[in-house]
Amino acid sequence: MIVMKFGGTSVESAQAIERVAGIVKSRADRHPIVVVSAMGKTTNKLLAIANAAVAGKRDEYIRQIHDLRDFHSREARQVVPLAHRTELDRTLDDHFQELTELVKGIAVIGELTPRSIDAISSYGERLSSYVVALAFEHFGLPAVHLDARRVIVTDRRHTHAGPLFPETYKRLEATVPPLAMQKVVVMGGFIGSTEDGVTSTLGRGGSDFTASIVGAGVRAEEIQIWTDVDGMLTADPTIFPGGHRVKTISFAEAAELAYFGAKVLHPATVIPAVEHNIPVMILNSRRPDVAGTRIVGSAVTCSNVVKSIACKRRITLVNIHSTRMFMAHGFLRRIFEVFDRYETSVDMIATSEVSVSLTIDNTEHLARISEELGEFSEVSTEPEQAIVCLVGENIRYTKGVAARVFNALRELNIRMISQGASLLNLSVVVAEADLRHAVQWLHEEFFRELDPEVFEA
Ligand code: ASP
Ligand code: MG
Repeated sequence: MIVMKFGGTSVESAQAIERVAGIVKSRADRHPIVVVSAMGKTTNKLLAIANAAVAGKRDEYIRQIHDLRDFHSREARQVVPLAHRTELDRTLDDHFQELTELVKGIAVIGELTPRSIDAISSYGERLSSYVVALAFEHFGLPAVHLDARRVIVTDRRHTHAGPLFPETYKRLEATVPPLAMQKVVVMGGFIGSTEDGVTSTLGRGGSDFTASIVGAGVRAEEIQIWTDVDGMLTADPTIFPGGHRVKTISFAEAAELAYFGAKVLHPATVIPAVEHNIPVMILNSRRPDVAGTRIVGSAVTCSNVVKSIACKRRITLVNIHSTRMFMAHGFLRRIFEVFDRYETSVDMIATSEVSVSLTIDNTEHLARISEELGEFSEVSTEPEQAIVCLVGENIRYTKGVAARVFNALRELNIRMISQGASLLNLSVVVAEADLRHAVQWLHEEFFRELDPEVFEA
């Protein structure tokens, strides 16, 4: 068995779904379990509907629901066999009627709870998985739809629920392999349910995580994440277009890249896969013949010291200074208590005796945080910063990496540096305005020559 996950753009239209059917068909002998995201931008649209409802904008949410139904109906009709059209229409009607009722309820109450957000955003994957399963039949691929909520069991932290692994694995093991031996199993990513059957979601971008959980639960040979890029690259193509494909990368490196902004993969994805030592492939559904990137458990021998450069934009730098803390203890504890209270995670940190600099990306509570920190220190914040992160298992074994980094960035003002926390990454903070140059110069420095075993120029 293999797990094949297709993201929103891979199933955004009839044409895209047809392409997916072709890809799955050519691998049918490997007993695929297909995990799909919501079609196109459906999740965003559902959240917009929820927001319109809570704001009492009736005309707006009614129109948005109509548009979303039209979109699903228009694309689905082109890929669903005639014999199934009535069933399709009825299912779309049922789902959209239910959704409309839910949304009206929210409008009446005027409050959007995490639990109702999950109820609403779950429709994207519920619909897409249903449509894709029917479409497969149309393309001559016997398929069975599985409601992910039956097998993915989560805690109650709605909108970012965590899977309850033992129960989830138990259900997956019992349910999925018998189905997958007969037909292609199609299920939605992202969604699950709590132990008492309330719909939950794993957080935005969670379908990759679902794929990995399912792969681990059924002990798949391989987990394939089909997306719209050729795999992991040596640099974010939106910042620096001259990057190369990384053919093989270790789990540790891939996770590190994901934490630091590589959009290709959800960071949590790799955890269940690593635990069960299942390789994860990143593949391009528009160019299925490109070999993609293979993510494997152990370190990959490579003559380049850096595997890839990741970036995280829209970072805020927080500088905290307190002369009162000179020779006192508990400074860091007090600082982190404040961030903890506002559930704001800190990405990078540098400390000296009476000063701490750190970066955050969620600034929702920054004003309150600054105010509370201000009770025992001076605080200044600088928005529009970026983290540039060099990732490679070899960084820890190689001399002179920092010297090369600083030399490459000699024209720039480096705001913060971090190495050592994770042995395979070296990160610097620069102003967002300098990001393009920083990545370009680092790329020139570290990828002038390429190990052909690991990179595809
Ligand atoms: N549809 C969900 C989202 O847009 C999950 C996913 O696509 O991975 O976040
Ligand atoms: Mg995604």
